[in-house]
Amino acid sequence: MFPMITGFINYGKQTIRTVRYIGQSFIITLSHTNRLPITIQYPYEKSITTERFRGRIHFEFDKCIACEVCVRVCPINLPVVDWQLERDIKKKKLLNYSIDFGICIFCGNCVEYCPTNCLSMTEEYELSTYDRHELNYNQIALGRLPISVVEDYTIETVKNSTPIKIYK
Ligand code: SF4
Ligand code: SF4
Repeated sequence: MFPMITGFINYGKQTIRTVRYIGQSFIITLSHTNRLPITIQYPYEKSITTERFRGRIHFEFDKCIACEVCVRVCPINLPVVDWQLERDIKKKKLLNYSIDFGICIFCGNCVEYCPTNCLSMTEEYELSTYDRHELNYNQIALGRLPISVVEDYTIETVKNSTPIKIYK
């Protein structure tokens, strides 16, 4: 007699637990109906990058003093600073500057440590090419400012991206 009662009690407990789990899964499913979709219809829609996004580097030739700090702080010594010494004024003259984005890891060290702030990170992330050698940007390519997603009227910007938590 007692084993049968115990069996019934156990069965009842299992049923309650099952119903609770099913209820919880339904609540989770329902909570998703209120959320906006995460996926975007790229390239017709683009999300606005965050303020501190580390995209393609912008370079201002006139501000550069050819100090090569950017090369020293770069984990892979990537920026190529080509300069010559102007003996009469005892100053370096910058001839060429380039960064190969096929190798760059976008760590931002060069931007952080440049004493004249001639480097900055832009919101540009569409750098794909068929030939990786095209990713080696010289000072002319580096000096081009990217088209802001917000200003491009052909593209719908998506502002509702899920907020990103920043841990400090
Ligand atoms: S750190 Fe700045 S100023 Fe110095 S060489 Fe690099 S880009 Fe030019
Ligand atoms: S972003 Fe980092 S890896 Fe790229 S050039 Fe600057 S320091 Fe080097």
